[in-house]
Amino acid sequence: MELVTPIQLGLLVLQGQGFVTLISSDGDDRRIVNAARVSFDADLKEHDPDRDKKLINYLIRNDHTSPLEHVTFTFLIECPIFIARQWMRHRTWSYNEVSGRYTEPRMNFYEPREWRQQSVSNKQASAGAIQDESKQDKLRVDYANFLRYAQDLYAEFIDAGVSREMARILLPNSLMTRFYATVDLHNLLRFIQLRDHAHAQQEIREYAIAMRELIQPIVPVAVEAWNTHKGAKNE
Ligand SMILES: Cc1cc2nc3c(=O)[nH]c(=O)nc-3n(C[C@H](O)[C@H](O)[C@H](O)COP(=O)(O)OP(=O)(O)OC[C@H]3O[C@@H](n4cnc5c(N)ncnc54)[C@H](O)[C@@H]3O)c2cc1C
Repeated sequence: MELVTPIQLGLLVLQGQGFVTLISSDGDDRRIVNAARVSFDADLKEHDPDRDKKLINYLIRNDHTSPLEHVTFTFLIECPIFIARQWMRHRTWSYNEVSGRYTEPRMNFYEPREWRQQSVSNKQASAGAIQDESKQDKLRVDYANFLRYAQDLYAEFIDAGVSREMARILLPNSLMTRFYATVDLHNLLRFIQLRDHAHAQQEIREYAIAMRELIQPIVPVAVEAWNTHKGAKNE
């Protein structure tokens, strides 16, 4: 019998500034097998680990992915708004996010350890840290000053009677946000494939890697099969 499992496993990312927590999951490798085998009325038969593994590999290799949709995960995520914007392009997830209209933000901002330079070959990517340490120091100080100014201005506008929904436009998209996100295994693996990839932004990549680590013990065969047949091509 399968039960909804209450789980609270989290991983810190972005040098401890963000996190992803697995709140709960429903289903595992056996659920995938059962959902696939109902086609030939064999979903209640005894499981054989080797046959189950072969079937899951067959399903993923041949894009018979609907059985994966019967396994679901709910995560609680804290990340900068610019990462949440990338995340929520993935339309097959369900989301609920803290509101800057109902609440005043906690004023946690993502502060990168190093500022990366623009890639020449890939217009949307960065290419390693700026090497000059004195330049890094200046960028860090400038950024800290900017964050302080933005927060002061927000407080000033609120004090002047401006609504929260308007005052928030003064805050940068490095502000941390928090949201619940529920997704099925197929769309989660697709997310990880796209976002743990050399073309994806380093920050969201950390979240994709963390989620793979969190689900691996629950669906080890499916994760391995996905890596084998669909794994990200990181060139
Ligand atoms: C490296 C990278 C760079 C990106 N850069 C940009 C960018 O510059 N600008 C930008 O706007 N976006 C950008 N994106 C976002 C990208 O275009 C996708 O929106 C995002 O990756 C979500 O993928 P998806 O649509 O497959 O996922 P989901 O929205 O979760 O959808 C999963 C699958 O469901 C199906 N589906 C969902 N909705 C529909 C629909 N309405 N119609 C038909 N089929 C649907 C599709 O098969 C889709 O693959 C980027 C993504 C990546 C990974």
